[in-house]
Amino acid sequence: MHRLIAVWFALSVCLVSSAMAFVVEGPRKSTGNAIEDLKRASRWAMTTGSLVETGQRGLGGGLEYSVDSSICTINFVDDSDCDDAKRMISQALARWGDGHPVLRFTDVTGRISPAFPLAVLGETDQGAEIDFYASTAMEFPNFRNALMNGYTIFYDRPIDYVTLSNNERSTLVRDRIESADVRVNKERCYYIDESFEMMRPECVHFPTLIFHEIGHALGLGHPEEKPSLNIDADDIPYNPMPINCMAASEGLKISRNVAGSAVMVRRNVHAPGLWRRGLNYDDVAGRDALYPHCGIEVKPRFSQLWGSFARSAMGDVGVSKGADTQEIAQQLALRDCSATGQQCGVVQVFNGCVAYAMAKEDVFNAQSAFDARYWGIATAQDPVAARVNAVRECNLERGVGNACRVHTEFCAFDE
Ligand SMILES: [Zn+2]
Repeated sequence: MHRLIAVWFALSVCLVSSAMAFVVEGPRKSTGNAIEDLKRASRWAMTTGSLVETGQRGLGGGLEYSVDSSICTINFVDDSDCDDAKRMISQALARWGDGHPVLRFTDVTGRISPAFPLAVLGETDQGAEIDFYASTAMEFPNFRNALMNGYTIFYDRPIDYVTLSNNERSTLVRDRIESADVRVNKERCYYIDESFEMMRPECVHFPTLIFHEIGHALGLGHPEEKPSLNIDADDIPYNPMPINCMAASEGLKISRNVAGSAVMVRRNVHAPGLWRRGLNYDDVAGRDALYPHCGIEVKPRFSQLWGSFARSAMGDVGVSKGADTQEIAQQLALRDCSATGQQCGVVQVFNGCVAYAMAKEDVFNAQSAFDARYWGIATAQDPVAARVNAVRECNLERGVGNACRVHTEFCAFDE
């Protein structure tokens, strides 16, 4: 008898947000403490058998996944077909398992039919361990938000203890993930060939979306959504986070510092940037904290991108983002500014987000032109903080109440 008691929702939409180290979807009831939540977080358990062979749901035999035929009805604008989609799902899964001795994925398409337990009242068939579907909003109401590209639900079952991936028994983890369903919004358009990024910017890079959704299927959440539950080993974003393979929460703490380029941050789940960069240090740390193992290979991961902002005295601006080094970022911003302005200078180089505010000529009329004499600039990992600080600095400069508005804002890791 199967009873699915709790359902966790994790979604991916493109909204502006900031980012932090990593977060877990957590136990059903948050303790209010991120480290305690990590110790209790829902996850896939270590099993000796596999779903296909012994009917056991868990890491044994790899996480067994099945691709529904609806994936073949996705609107690919680059003529990708069903086999291409399946190949990219397989590659995205393999990236999450890269370097991990236990976290593997096994394609059981054709052997186990996908099933969505909540679709029919009383339905007990959970399908494979991870099922991939494409759905319309009619079929899956969560897609009524037209901005939503994908949606992943995992199902966990209350249990007395969970055997972790390092074979330790945890009596703190009381929720075992048994099934996950990844859905792609069929009403959107998709591509795999990265050259379509420029030609069809309204469409979604399919591998990037799948890459992000798989993180949810493993139990990871959006780092930017619950700042108080974000975990890191230190306050430095972008660096490797060592995970103790026999005591995963040891040495970890709550940190508000961010690495906005993480695959689990939803800001850029659209264009191919996340796919090009791969898992960053925080994504891998989240994985290894939920699925510790002493045989995990330490590999170089994506660290950071740089952006820069330049301006001239006349108010011309130049921007750059996505640069590999500070020097390149500065050169590109200067060149951009010099295209229209004279005597441009670099004002900021940063690896988070920047906001540039200017005063209005008519300080009581928000619609009036900008006054290049009064301005403020701020950088922060959180774009909202950057905006607030830039406007505050500009208002102080202008000296008249609420004279300033944001003129330019972006993040180094934006697409
Ligand atoms: Zn998401």
